[in-house]
Amino acid sequence: MTDTAVHSASGEPVVDAFGRPLRSLRLSVTDRCNLRCAYCMPEENYVWLPREDVLTFEEMAALTGYFTDLGVDKVRLTGGEPLLRRDLPRLIRLLLQNHNINEIALTTNGILLSDQAEALYEAGLHRVTVSLDTLRPERFRQLTRRDEYARVLEGIESVCRIGFTGLKLDTVAIRGFNDDELVGLIEFGKHFRAEVRFIEYMDVGGANEWAPDKVLSRDAMLAILGKYYGKIDPMPERGSAPAQRFILPDGTTFGIIPSTTTPFCASCDRSRVTADGIWYRCLYATTGTDLRKPLRDGISGQEMHALIRAGWESRRDRGAEERKALERVGLREAGLIGIDRLREDPHLEMHARGG
Ligand code: SAM
Repeated sequence: MTDTAVHSASGEPVVDAFGRPLRSLRLSVTDRCNLRCAYCMPEENYVWLPREDVLTFEEMAALTGYFTDLGVDKVRLTGGEPLLRRDLPRLIRLLLQNHNINEIALTTNGILLSDQAEALYEAGLHRVTVSLDTLRPERFRQLTRRDEYARVLEGIESVCRIGFTGLKLDTVAIRGFNDDELVGLIEFGKHFRAEVRFIEYMDVGGANEWAPDKVLSRDAMLAILGKYYGKIDPMPERGSAPAQRFILPDGTTFGIIPSTTTPFCASCDRSRVTADGIWYRCLYATTGTDLRKPLRDGISGQEMHALIRAGWESRRDRGAEERKALERVGLREAGLIGIDRLREDPHLEMHARGG
């Protein structure tokens, strides 16, 4: 806890305008990625964040400390591809000095995992989520524009070998692309004792090729899986977790994150800090709060707490619900952020704010 913690006096976390607590922080450690997934980063070249703007690990840990003072207890390291940031275990060790953090998780595409899994484990990383959309090397190459499928598999194997528990595999389910692999992915997950979570394709950031007919809805996924597995039962809700969890007749569990058809804005306790210290309170938000400048200007802890508290207390974002409302009036695709605007402000990209 930093010296000017403010929420702990009452023990109550700070809540936003709709009563949602500030609990989960996604820290993007880099905007760079070693894949070019069609639904996220389809261009070969991007306007990258200026190097001098990117926060040091010390700055990230300090900022995180202000957030944990106000209620955050879960931190997810993301990107871009977080494993491209050199010596990530050092950041994990720094963060673990903060005893208000209950969980540090990592979301990665897995390419560099086999080299780094051991060091991450030793540093104290709690959980790993690997993004994996297909089990077919050729499809992987087509989607990501890189021939790295084998290295992702090695990465997943290394996570299991080293002893991480609670491995998750996140799959963006896209109609006409990988809807024939849902069963295969669950079976693959069983083999690695990993829970698979299917994410509905979202119309965010660089997803300029998004179209409603590419969204494989939760109900469509359940229908496909039900045909193969038989009865699928929902599991009890877990508070603010975005995934709805289900159980198969053999006890295997899996999740669906239906962000597009059934947004979870009402319980969303997430916010994101980009690698250059801009704080976004919603994945769809077009503006954020610059925390880098005040941090580097040396404002007091009290002022930083006040800034974050005010930002959260005034939060009224419900971006995914608003997008869904646009769909009802046929305007969802028109609302996609154009490529020119994305070029002007890279912060609007998913790869800058961490997905
Ligand atoms: N590079 C890391 C990875 O691949 O996991 C972390 C960053 S990536 C932006 C985080 C997650 O966002 C990935 O699971 C990715 O599949 C997901 N994602 C990106 N664009 C998406 C979209 N348009 N719809 C749904 N999920 C998306």
